[in-house]
Amino acid sequence: MASDPSSAAGGGVSMDQPGRDPLTGLALDDLGPSKGLRAPTLLSKDERLLGRPKLCSDCGLCDSQFKPLMASSCTFVRQHIPEIEQRLHGRGRREGDELRFGIFREMHAARMRQPASGAQWSGMVTSLGAALLETGQVEGVITAAAASGTRFAPRPVLARTPDAVRASAGNKPCLSPNLALLDEVRAAGIKRLAFIGTGCQVQILRAAEPRLRAELGLEQLDVIGIPCSDNVTYPDLQFFLAQVSRSPETIVHYEFMQDYSLWMRHDDGQIERVNFIDFPMDKLDGVFPSACLSCFDYANSLADITIGYMGARLGWQWVLVRTERGQAMLELIKPRLEFRELDSAGDRARGMPRYISMLARPPGKPPKLIRRLIAFLQRHRGPRGLEFARAVIEMKLLRNLQYLRTHFPRFEPRVVHPAVYQALAPYAGDYAETFGRPLKPDESSRNPPGL
Ligand SMILES: Cc1cc2nc3c(=O)[nH]c(=O)nc-3n(C[C@H](O)[C@H](O)[C@H](O)COP(=O)(O)OP(=O)(O)OC[C@H]3O[C@@H](n4cnc5c(N)ncnc54)[C@H](O)[C@@H]3O)c2cc1C
Ligand code: SF4
Ligand code: SF4
Repeated sequence: MASDPSSAAGGGVSMDQPGRDPLTGLALDDLGPSKGLRAPTLLSKDERLLGRPKLCSDCGLCDSQFKPLMASSCTFVRQHIPEIEQRLHGRGRREGDELRFGIFREMHAARMRQPASGAQWSGMVTSLGAALLETGQVEGVITAAAASGTRFAPRPVLARTPDAVRASAGNKPCLSPNLALLDEVRAAGIKRLAFIGTGCQVQILRAAEPRLRAELGLEQLDVIGIPCSDNVTYPDLQFFLAQVSRSPETIVHYEFMQDYSLWMRHDDGQIERVNFIDFPMDKLDGVFPSACLSCFDYANSLADITIGYMGARLGWQWVLVRTERGQAMLELIKPRLEFRELDSAGDRARGMPRYISMLARPPGKPPKLIRRLIAFLQRHRGPRGLEFARAVIEMKLLRNLQYLRTHFPRFEPRVVHPAVYQALAPYAGDYAETFGRPLKPDESSRNPPGL
């Protein structure tokens, strides 16, 4: 029997008291990082998480009747990216951008001509989910709405109408157990399903897909992926916003922008911006879950179509069409889209040696003047367009590889896919010099006995 998926965001009912978080009832002042970086999972005190592996992003599979598939499907037990790519595309990744972005057949910068209300960007994702229902191509869409009384706590829903999908627009930037809804899919007898979700959810769904198709009698599974990195639990999101914003309670929308700053829109329409370099990283130690720091699929490579923003210029969305089905899905909303060319500027390789040496130091903030200079250089000389996406993905791959090696070394052979080492190969010399070990492990240690 599945537990209530919305409890993943901290459990409890809406209390709506001033100074308290409406979902958890915790005093906002008391919120803080749930753990130090060395603890296995952020939610380890939550009973729902008993019996799960040390790394768990709370994808929801283990809340469903399909929990027995965890051992063979969970990406934190063992990743299956190369096999699934063979199944989906009949080939592996090519040299170049596919090493970082995953296999794709088309890449675009696009946006809805009429932005959807409440959307994170222009609303391509929910417009596509709604269109799949409108045209009868699917009978249900798994998506993440907001838990009642909150803006940002996720509540996975199985939407049966286009309006229900549209109502789920906007990021709920917290771990969301979307796969728990597979039980509802079974109960409703749905045979044609669309799934909207993050990379870990999609990897686990794809790994379980053959069994799910057989057990649910699924005839069609359409997968719309969003890029994802540095997700958090709901209480930790509250803590994070309290560290970076002058008024965390009034934030209605926020995004980590391509201009190297966090934009937070408040309920009076004002935009507050904080440069990434000004984040108090020392205070944020412990905010990010160990699973998200051990995640190597930023671009959601196993979706039919990935829709994000970071490879496109400010104001546009970044679209990677991966499969034939993804192409058909894009056609469905194409008349409502406008396109522009993707471009690329700057040289990410220049800053990477400095980034690698920074990884070797404890988190902290440089002095204010230096921060100002770095923010200026990032904004005016830093990588842009596709080069920005390459830079961010490579930095997260490096950071997460180093995190995993430091805190969960036995997991490396199982959770790091081979393209990670290929993508990072240009920095192997700097890595070895800084950390005193090779970037790519010996082949003989990739599958040690007993793992
Ligand atoms: C935690 C997080 C981190 C992200 N990081 C990046 C990034 O670094 N680079 C990048 O290019 N894009 C990132 N994205 C995706 C991006 O912010 C937008 O969600 C995406 O571009 C779609 O915009 P839209 O206007 O088309 O979506 P909308 O039409 O507004 O729809 C948003 C969809 O996202 C789903 N969703 C919201 N929150 C969650 C969640 N927690 N888990 C699963 N699904 C959810 C909703 O169900 C909805 O279907 C991230 C998203 C999340 C949730
Ligand atoms: S990530 Fe998903 S499949 Fe893996 S242990 Fe957590 S809930 Fe289970
Ligand atoms: S960062 Fe990775 S592990 Fe964490 S929620 Fe996003 S896709 Fe999943």
